[in-house]
Amino acid sequence: MRALIKHHAGEGLRFESDRPEPEVGPNDVLIRIRKAGICGTDRHIWEWDDWAAGRIPVGIVTGHEFVGVVERVGSAVTRVIPGQRVSAEGHITAGKDFNSRTGNAHIARDTKIIGVDRDGCFADLMAIPEENVWPLHESIPDKYAAVMDPLGNAVHTVMSAGVSASSVLISGVGIIGLMAVTVAKAAGASRIYCTDVNPPRLALAKKLGAVEAFDAREGNGWIEQIRDETRGEGVDVLLEMSGASPALESGFEALRNGGRAALLGLLAKSPTFDFNKNVIFKGCTVLGINGRRMFETWYQMEELLLSGRLELDQIVTHEFPIEDYEKAFATMISGEGIKVLMNVNE
Ligand code: ZN
Repeated sequence: MRALIKHHAGEGLRFESDRPEPEVGPNDVLIRIRKAGICGTDRHIWEWDDWAAGRIPVGIVTGHEFVGVVERVGSAVTRVIPGQRVSAEGHITAGKDFNSRTGNAHIARDTKIIGVDRDGCFADLMAIPEENVWPLHESIPDKYAAVMDPLGNAVHTVMSAGVSASSVLISGVGIIGLMAVTVAKAAGASRIYCTDVNPPRLALAKKLGAVEAFDAREGNGWIEQIRDETRGEGVDVLLEMSGASPALESGFEALRNGGRAALLGLLAKSPTFDFNKNVIFKGCTVLGINGRRMFETWYQMEELLLSGRLELDQIVTHEFPIEDYEKAFATMISGEGIKVLMNVNE
């Protein structure tokens, strides 16, 4: 089969056309991939930074966001059938640790991620346990089904913080931040503010429903403006999506006392952060967000997609055949594209 392989400990991926098909165990489902999304994680793997070098086994098939069709199922599979159109939760847990057994499998200790720890979806075929497979509602188009992994990060963050009838600040409007704008709006946020350092994305955040989108390079005057517009208090909710330490600090400054902060953005290094002022005296609730709840987030995503209230068309900007993977990655890495898809079997 065709596949994009992390073939050496260095930059880039290699396209191979003679990779053996994956083995299908009794509990596995073999999926023929239709479309796959390029994620920030795939960029780290492409660029081979310190994180990738310490985590990724050389030789694996990369990729973890996809939509496809079930080709074949293992002998013990009961729920999924060949021909079904599916996506899947890419975090595979052994189901043995405390969190897996108490309804929090998304933070299990024994998690393996497709395209990171084991073979992923940048290939004609991928095998994954039946437990992880998400059969798709017929009215959800492939283009959206292919991005349910990052959309799930946005939904999990927004739903964990609780945004209904609340003012919200989203710091960082990359792919997931932009998704969080449309999700928060659909979930009933009263007013959405955004910050970033990328003017076109700030403009898009406004189109998707933000009342104000501030360029963080132009100083911190926006914090005063937010306070002025929120009874002098600050926003009810902070959704931190940038992983930039100045954004973390200013985000907490714009959060009202007793507010809720949900943190998804990964910080490149530990921030210098005033915990006394920002957390303890503020009396706020701070939530670390990882992955998607299994499978509550997936049901919520399906409901939101079926509601017709999510605007994803302007977020999924480009599609390339998988053979043009170099162009696809360049479009994503340069920032010209937001969410870039590769068409595998169309
Ligand atoms: Zn991803």
